[in-house]
Parts: sequence; structure tokens; C-alpha cells
Amino acid sequence: MTGNRVAIEIDHVCKRFGAGEQAVLALDHIALDIRENEFFTLLGPSGCGKTTLLRMIAGFEDVSAGDIRLYGASLTGKLPFQRPVNTVFQSYALFPHLTVEENIAFGLEMRGFKPADINPIVAEKLELVKLSGFARRRPHQLSGGQQQRVALARALAPSPRVLLLDESLSALDLKLRKEMQVELKRLQRETGITFVFVTHDQEEALTMSDRIAVMSAGKLQQVGSPEDIYDRPANRFVADFIGETSFLQGRVADGQLHFGVAGSLSCQVLDQPHDGAAALAVRPERLQLASSGDGLGGVVAEVVYRGVDTVYLVQLADGQPCRVRHTNDSGASRLARVGDAVRVAALPGAFHRLQEAG
Ligand code: ATP
Repeated sequence: MTGNRVAIEIDHVCKRFGAGEQAVLALDHIALDIRENEFFTLLGPSGCGKTTLLRMIAGFEDVSAGDIRLYGASLTGKLPFQRPVNTVFQSYALFPHLTVEENIAFGLEMRGFKPADINPIVAEKLELVKLSGFARRRPHQLSGGQQQRVALARALAPSPRVLLLDESLSALDLKLRKEMQVELKRLQRETGITFVFVTHDQEEALTMSDRIAVMSAGKLQQVGSPEDIYDRPANRFVADFIGETSFLQGRVADGQLHFGVAGSLSCQVLDQPHDGAAALAVRPERLQLASSGDGLGGVVAEVVYRGVDTVYLVQLADGQPCRVRHTNDSGASRLARVGDAVRVAALPGAFHRLQEAG
């Protein structure tokens, strides 16, 4: 459960690296609120500025303009250790010569915790990450997943109000990564700490987050729940970056969606039904190969079998390509073969009209 209270206010933050012609505007007027107890994800392709934003919350980078506030108080001028914020780095950054318990205790000693308080906290955090039997080991005697848990225990030990996680799972293999996704959700729920998670993996962001901020080239593209971002992408970038999308040009007229010689569909554009040219986005699972004469005419150009589902690439008769996905629970992989003439039908509300509609 997320509270409504705002934990972090990112108030029109800019970040400029370098000067003159060499200057890079890594963040361009980013404005967003992160709520208390939220699992909040910064998502975007490499170089979009998500790590820079995380480092600014942590205090490793200054803001060039704007302000970051934690529970209403500006963080400007506060050094990293003066902020009730802790970071889990992608590399884990464990001290190789210290044992697991010494690694966890280190941050507490640095923060001036009393020696008598440190041991119970270390034991509690080891229990929290399910590593109670590993206190005396050194990092090289642990698997990657176990090292990740130690890094989490160390970051959680001083009970920060906010935990920042920078591409924390990207070094793990796929199976372990899925396990740690569940584990991170559990830790967030049990501790009630606000998590700010950075990833370039859209599936990971959709799976884990209460809300997601999608970024591109230093700009915020959309902030919303996973459902908002997936079902109602704000623009073409978000529709393209999150999930699979076909982009089609159509024309809305007389309650119909027209695709030239490919044919027409009864109007599926619910959000902006006004007449005229329409730039459309459609998810492959919202389209279906139809057996009857309904739908748009086309030819199957490719069949991609993916175990759980099959994706048909269809070249519509007006020349536009689109993707149609069927789950394989009822022999869907054999619905059509390359070169077959097919009809493509749409589920209600399948098409989303993009803002850039011409
Ligand atoms: P990745 O997923 O690859 O880590 P990112 O989205 O986290 O990418 P940032 O690392 O925040 O992106 O970088 C954003 C932009 O700022 C990039 O163009 C990067 O080259 C630039 N940048 C980051 N740090 C510096 C620096 N110290 N000096 C100059 N430019 C920098």
C-alpha cells in the first residue's frame, strides 16, 4: 500500500555537465513527486538521465537548477551521509576484506550508532534478507545473488527513509533476477521504506512498480501506474519503449476507422473519436486473425513461435505492417502460415490515438 504523503519532490530539476559547446543537458526540467512507501521506478534507455537523477537524490551530484525536497525540506547543500537516504549500487560495492556482518556493521559505525546497538541490527537485517547463517563469510565466498542480499541488508541497516537502487538486478542471470524481483517487493512491503528503483528493463518496471516515470533524453515522458503506462501511453516514445506496439496511419470518418484498400473497422478509437487522419498505436494482443470476412485484409509475412504465444507479422493490403499475437493454449501457432491471405480483426478499444496525430 502506498500512502498519499509526498516523500520526495523533484522540483523542475536540471543537470548540465560541462560548459560551452561541450555541455550536456542530462536532465531537462524534471518535475515529479514520489510518495511515501511507494515502489517508484525511473525507466528509460541508456543515457536518458535516470542514474544522474538517482545520484542527485543521494547527494553524489549537485543540481544545476531546481530543487529536490525530502518531506518538504530541501536537500541542497546536504552531503550524502547527512541525508536519510541510502543507495544499493549495481556493483554491490561490498568490502572484500570484511565479513558479511562487518560489511553491514560498517555503515552503522560510520553513522555513529552505539556499538551495543549494532549487533542486534546486523542480526535482524541478515534475517530479513535470509542470510542468517552467512555472517562470517567474506564476499568472495558468496554467490552473486547472496552478495546482492548483503548489499541490501547493509543499505537497509540504518533504516533510511528512502532506498535508492541503481540497476541493482542487472548483473544477475534471468532466473535469479526474477527471484530477486519478488524479494525486493517483499523487502519494500515489510520495511515500508520508499524505494526508488532505476532500470532500463520495461518488463521489470511493469512487474515491480507502484508507479513508473518514463524518461528519454533527459526529459520526463510520462508518470503513472504500470497500467497507465501500458494501456494509455502518453506519446509515441512511451508506446514504443513499453511492450510491443504497431504504429498505423488511419483515417477516422463516419464512426469507422479506414485503412485505405486494407478495409475498415467499426471505430475502435475511444479516446479521441473526432474525424480526420489518425496516428494510431495498437498492441499485438488486441488484434486477432479472423476467420470470417470481417477485419482488414493482409498477408502473413512472418510467424514467430515463442512458446507461450505466437506472433504473426501481417502486411496489410495498404502496405502497413502490423503484429498480431495469439496465446498458444488452443493450437494458435497453426492459425496461418507465411504467405496466407488473412483478415485482421480488433478487440474493442484496441487502437490508441497518439497526440502527434496529423
Ligand atoms: P545508463 O542506463 O547507461 O546508466 P542513464 O539513463 O542512467 O544511462 P546517465 O548516466 O544519467 O544516463 O547519463 C545521462 C547523460 O549525462 C548521458 O548523456 C551521459 O553521457 C551524461 N553524463 C553522465 N555523467 C556525466 C559526467 N560526469 N560528465 C559528463 N556527462 C555525463
